[in-house]
Amino acid sequence: MTRRIARLMAAAIAGLLLVAAAPQPGRAAEAGAQARSRTVALTFDDGPSKYTPQILDILRRNDVKATFCMLGGNVGAYQRTAKRVVKEGHRLCNHSRNHPDFTTLSNSRARSQIVYTQNKIREVTGRSPKVFRFPYGSSNSRVRQVVRNRDLRILGWTVDTRDWARPGAKVIADRAVRGTRPGGVILMHDGGGNRTQTVAALDRTIKRLKAKGYTFVLA
Ligand SMILES: [Zn+2]
Repeated sequence: MTRRIARLMAAAIAGLLLVAAAPQPGRAAEAGAQARSRTVALTFDDGPSKYTPQILDILRRNDVKATFCMLGGNVGAYQRTAKRVVKEGHRLCNHSRNHPDFTTLSNSRARSQIVYTQNKIREVTGRSPKVFRFPYGSSNSRVRQVVRNRDLRILGWTVDTRDWARPGAKVIADRAVRGTRPGGVILMHDGGGNRTQTVAALDRTIKRLKAKGYTFVLA
């Protein structure tokens, strides 16, 4: 590229930036951009379970929507709860039938884990998840392709509260709040064991993140 073309391109880019920034008064534009970027998503894995309704109550009181990565094998026993997740505006996520490590599965077994859960969730809630999260976050390119072939987006996380290890509600909330950056995805669990601590941590986590200017989005 010649120097002249490079200069022209730089000028054009600067021009575009000026045009984009021009209509908004400085301070308000800055505050607006910051508010837009300070988003965080709450995600709950391994449910539905008997703890899920308590989590839904807290989310409703705080007017927050979240994403629920359900195990197909749990949905039949908690049909009302699964329906309530949808009814209250939360997002469904497929988290397999019974939580295997997908890197150990053949393509056909991986596919059947996914398809079973898609079918079960649709049968019970009337909706099909559009996202999938690997159990343990464990994947490779082969099984990621199996997921994509079912038209599912793969969901990860940026903040692992490790709430399943039951470190105490205060530690769970601290990890969630301190670990969150704009655009973050917080991993918590509404199933897979005793989730009393997660339930106890949730309200204070939401309130502290809101106080820091975060708004909650679907993952
Ligand atoms: Zn899980």
